Amino acid sequence: MSSNVTGEFELIRRYFTRPPRTATTATSATTASTVVLGIGDDCALIAPTPGHELAFSTDMLVEGRHFIAGTDPERLGHKTLAVNLSDCAAMGARPRYALLAGALPDADPAWLTGFSRGLFALADRFDVELIGGDTTRGPRNLCVTIIGEVPSGQALLRIGARVGDVVWVSGELGSAAVGLALLQETIPDLAADALTATDRAQAIDALERPEPRVCLGLALRGIATSAIDVSDGLIGDLGHVLERSGVGADIDLARVPCRPWLRSMTSAPALRGPRDFAIRSMLAGGDDYELCFTAPPSREGDVHAAARKARVAVTAIGRIVERRGLTVRDQSGVILPLENVRAFDHFQ
Ligand code: ADP
Ligand code: MG
Repeated sequence: MSSNVTGEFELIRRYFTRPPRTATTATSATTASTVVLGIGDDCALIAPTPGHELAFSTDMLVEGRHFIAGTDPERLGHKTLAVNLSDCAAMGARPRYALLAGALPDADPAWLTGFSRGLFALADRFDVELIGGDTTRGPRNLCVTIIGEVPSGQALLRIGARVGDVVWVSGELGSAAVGLALLQETIPDLAADALTATDRAQAIDALERPEPRVCLGLALRGIATSAIDVSDGLIGDLGHVLERSGVGADIDLARVPCRPWLRSMTSAPALRGPRDFAIRSMLAGGDDYELCFTAPPSREGDVHAAARKARVAVTAIGRIVERRGLTVRDQSGVILPLENVRAFDHFQ
């Protein structure tokens, strides 16, 4: 990329190349895996840990589609990596290496400094090393490929949910969707009026700075029968698990964890407006990056122990049932019509 400040290679050197690091933090363990060759050649080389499978995933963030033009670059750097770490979390894989492909409209030093700071701050927390990528000029588009490791046969898959299992969710759902509605000014007036400045800030933080549940994913190995990260909304993502596992689920809206202000909106009497908005945000909003997983009732104590270890709340929201499909009941036991509460789909 030719640019006002620096050439492509200088840009990569200045903003994305660092000396190799030694593992020291949150998820580091005694893994033998090492980077043999990092940024600078045609490929990076890694020597995987014996007895492990490599977990690969890639996620792209497109300006105007996944983030609003003008989003703070440091937050965007965080989120670009966070959404990929979340996929590792959902597999019970330890994230190890990342590749970053970016199209940028220009080589703005302030933007690059902020973006790389946000990305590396999160990478450092989980001992993830940036081992390569690609840089080009174009409409802003950021794509990370993540490589994780999981002991052979221990990955958490979507296919394992069994009838009788409890359905669990980490953290809280819905805030990120409210944050997006605030930024896009699509939030219903009555709902917006109910939010304090603190609520608004929390909702926007949830959207822009999601916390990937990597430690929880690792702690759930051998406990959870299935797992997925909630990126497109609970209904759609849990729906994938149900479909792959050939089962259904009964969920109680009242048990789906959310902020108190969102909860009070769900019990508003009016059918339209805030109540619909709140329910849609919680069930189909997307961008939550919490884990939704299943485990047999006998493992409840182990699930809570895993959550304590990962320092994140987990909530039982329902059960896996034999009857196919997803049923969500509201506070009064009435089944919600889910046709109106679809999960996010880029092509609908
Ligand atoms: P190639 O000519 O094979 O496409 P490049 O010239 O694009 O290679 O990249 C040179 C080196 O810099 C490679 O090792 C590549 O992986 C790395 N790289 C390019 N862009 C990035 C980036 N945004 N972040 C990290 N590494 C990058
Ligand atoms: Mg290239």
